Amino acid sequence: MNEIILKVGFEIHQQLSTKNKLFCNCKCLEAENYDSIFLRKLRPAHSELGSYDRASIFEFTKMRTIKYHSSYLSSCLVEADEEPPHEINRDAMDTALIISLALNSNIIDEINVMRKIVIDGSNTSGFQRTMLISYGGHLQIDGKKIGVQTICLEEDSGKLLSDDGKFREYGLDRLGIPLIEIALEPVTGTPTEIVKIALNLGRLLRTTKRVARGLGSIRQDVNISVNNGKGIVEIKGVQRLDQLIKVIEYETIRQHGLILIAEKMNRERKSNDIIIGDKIMDITNIFMDSSSKIVQKVISNKENIFMAIRVKGFKGLFGFEPYPDIRIGKELGELVRFYGFGGLFHSDELPNYGITDIEVRKVNEILDIDISKDGFIILGGPREKMSIAISAICDRLNNVSSGVPSETRAARIDGKTIYSRPKPGSARMYPETDIAPFKITDDLLVPLKEKVPKSWNETISYLAKKYQLNKNLAEKIFDSNYFEIFEVLSGLTKISPSFIASKLTEDILNFERQGYDSSILNNNILLDIFKRLDSGLIAKESINLIMEKLMNRTTKSVDESIRVLGIKSISDEELEKIIDKIIEDNVLIIQEKGMKATSALMGKCMTILRGKVNGKKINDLINNKLNIILNLKK
Ligand SMILES: [Zn+2]
Repeated sequence: MNEIILKVGFEIHQQLSTKNKLFCNCKCLEAENYDSIFLRKLRPAHSELGSYDRASIFEFTKMRTIKYHSSYLSSCLVEADEEPPHEINRDAMDTALIISLALNSNIIDEINVMRKIVIDGSNTSGFQRTMLISYGGHLQIDGKKIGVQTICLEEDSGKLLSDDGKFREYGLDRLGIPLIEIALEPVTGTPTEIVKIALNLGRLLRTTKRVARGLGSIRQDVNISVNNGKGIVEIKGVQRLDQLIKVIEYETIRQHGLILIAEKMNRERKSNDIIIGDKIMDITNIFMDSSSKIVQKVISNKENIFMAIRVKGFKGLFGFEPYPDIRIGKELGELVRFYGFGGLFHSDELPNYGITDIEVRKVNEILDIDISKDGFIILGGPREKMSIAISAICDRLNNVSSGVPSETRAARIDGKTIYSRPKPGSARMYPETDIAPFKITDDLLVPLKEKVPKSWNETISYLAKKYQLNKNLAEKIFDSNYFEIFEVLSGLTKISPSFIASKLTEDILNFERQGYDSSILNNNILLDIFKRLDSGLIAKESINLIMEKLMNRTTKSVDESIRVLGIKSISDEELEKIIDKIIEDNVLIIQEKGMKATSALMGKCMTILRGKVNGKKINDLINNKLNIILNLKK
């Protein structure tokens, strides 16, 4: 692993926390319910599709119907593309300029809104509006400068809700939320060093206090290449830092694996022995009575056929695994899934999956295979997409000898990446004619310079002092999704800020590690829980019990959790009665141990009172009572 040179470029997309959207006055608000639906079919003109790959255009020309869901609170006619965009949101523009200043980036003097063609339906207009704010600059980390390429301000796209192949559905609440896009110069280093850059950039954005927090509010696209490979792999949709490090590690191994496969191939095979796809045959008849479940599933659809592709000189290369689960066969399987093909087999893995030796021999025969050195691919799926899928397979196989192909991949939460499409060229852009250019003057920039945030260290020291937190906790709460509600709770209640901060960071994180869902703990719920604590309705010990019930979804509300847990506030009078009873029942222990009986009594009290009364309060009461009893005896 030490010999691998890893090069990574980031493009961070961060939502801003403006009240309104970028080009209208709608609120930036996640919709809980949508109240209207409309349908669209996008018909792109050919000239607009210049740089898109064949596959996307093919998908597109199938005229998918797109269903948009909107809520009147978060979308208007602008989102529906029935009204021209309004002026650029000044608050968003200010934030973009402040961030550009903080990164020493060169702000351009006239900002022009551009339309970037998008063909997946995520924008009702068929394009995304974007504007270049600045270029160049750097981010400083431990005395090292990480270069900035460009900083853009753009509108977020619609939120993909579902796609069943017939309808693709988007929520419009997210469309038009201002985003800042920062592209960094590619850097080399270890995965840990590289993730540190993303962490620092995220922190710089948060110190402005002008960016949104929470899952989905920051998304990173990552370009990764290994050993100076020419192929550029872009991974989209990384949402968290722990995911980012796994993505980088996985992609390093995958790409290095592909390089090792290429080396094996170039070492062991002569280039003119390799002939890809010179013979392609329909083998549906051979598979008609196959006992393979996968085959039968494909064939049960009358539209589907099976084709076999001869790949001369490839024996042993489809299944070769330089790292676990990294092999060409798997790459091909992922590739064809993009076209909706579920069934792909290669000669290195057959007979298997219910496909028999006899069937394999028939395929060998029909393709005229030399079993000492040739291989084949079998592909089952829709007849109409067959030729485009086969040419994609052949293109991919032609690239095996050069290692890593350029492509776009999607990040999964476990860090694995999946093929999502060939890498498109730079998207076609043209000017947005509905919005006038925006002039940047010194008068505009001077007051913004004052708003450039303090450094991370200064911000943390300031917070630590203001809320009397230790530095570690101050960092944790400021890095977390709960910083805003933390400030609200600290101002609104008499509860110690460090108690609130540790609940909102360490304790919630603990529950997340157990697989519980923290997204349920929205600001209203947290406000409710801590207000009850503040007014003495529940004890400190109850907070985790309530959060746990909510997060593992055994209860739906704070009220219900309190009822299920049997948490009732106990009056001081009742409390004394309970403790007196326990003391009475344990006279022998007290006689024997004196004041040291406290801990034993405490244990007995807590089994009854856990979550209902503050532990310290019980402890104090027991101590007082023991003191009185033992002194009386003397
Ligand atoms: Zn609107």
